[in-house]
Amino acid sequence: MTRPTCIHIHLDRLAHNFHIARRLHGGRILAVIKANAYGHGDIACAQALAPLADGFGVASLQEAVRLRAAGIDNPVVLLEGIFAAAEMEAVASHGLTPVIHDIWQIDALRQLPAGTTVPVWLKLDTGMHRLGVLPDVLPQAYEALKRSGRVSDVTLMTHFANADLPDARILDEPMRRFRDAQQSLPPLPTSLGNSGAILGHPEARGDWGRPGLMLYGVDPGAPALASRQPLRPVMRFVSEISALRTISAGESVGYGSRFKAARTTRVGVVPCGYADGYPRSAGEGTPVAVGGGIAPLIGCVSMDMITVDLTDLPEAGLGTPVELWGDRIAVSEVASRAGTVAYELLCQARRADIRVHSSGPA
Ligand SMILES: *Cc1c(COP(=O)(O)O)cnc(C)c1O
Repeated sequence: MTRPTCIHIHLDRLAHNFHIARRLHGGRILAVIKANAYGHGDIACAQALAPLADGFGVASLQEAVRLRAAGIDNPVVLLEGIFAAAEMEAVASHGLTPVIHDIWQIDALRQLPAGTTVPVWLKLDTGMHRLGVLPDVLPQAYEALKRSGRVSDVTLMTHFANADLPDARILDEPMRRFRDAQQSLPPLPTSLGNSGAILGHPEARGDWGRPGLMLYGVDPGAPALASRQPLRPVMRFVSEISALRTISAGESVGYGSRFKAARTTRVGVVPCGYADGYPRSAGEGTPVAVGGGIAPLIGCVSMDMITVDLTDLPEAGLGTPVELWGDRIAVSEVASRAGTVAYELLCQARRADIRVHSSGPA
């Protein structure tokens, strides 16, 4: 294949970022690899992290079973629990750890054959109001788990709505709710923080950290915070300049003639568009690394192509390497220009040819 657009996945950087999460958080680390490891390839990432991670976090039974089929035998936590009672049997037979976020899931546990037990993570809602039992029913839920006779051990978890914000007090209220609720139970191992909490809120440590985004080398904070730790991007989305032309002032570029040249403009085409996962909503001026320089995006993002202004990069020509995001262009920067978050762009970078490197140039 000769279309030059491809995604490089640097697995050695995953380990580097994992060690940062481990050093900051301490204790045990549940590496979150849901959604195909945020677009990086779940099996390759799980295999790279298996010797390091105390467990993996996924979103569904299907994702977990894929890991087991690939020979991954670390603990696997189903972060959204089960979606139907019938899933509980497979949870037990694959040795998975379901999050329990609702009472009906405890009934599903009771239907397991006598003598079968599973470890569970009991989720407390501390204000995100998405999943989790509310503080006033937590003691009941815990008692019901114990009484079911199907539970080997219980970890108490919560998830924060705003851990990516820099405000030092932002977790005070959910932490207060967590501590209060904790008093209503016997001492249990805990799991609190995602990447935002691990990077920015040392007051919110538990026994288990749950980093996702930071493992892939991306800080969930605002782009201005992106250098809090020397994280290294695992994904590099690259291409090459595939066509060139020079247009006169007043001419336009692309669908809808959205970009109008204010000067004689050298236009470069990069064969990468929204079908490859480059966001169509990326605005004019979104930076694209071309050779040793940075060129602004001009015109609409097409399905398989974008156009960039190369007027100020005369050395760029056909075949000059392009990076859409990775080492020189932060995916968070492209995301903010597109009105979204890095998470979404990583998950969507899907069509381009994916090349996995287990070690590589620094
Ligand atoms: C996705 C997820 C995480 C990881 O979040 P990041 O912001 O990517 O670090 C942690 N915990 C839960 C419950 C999640 O759903």
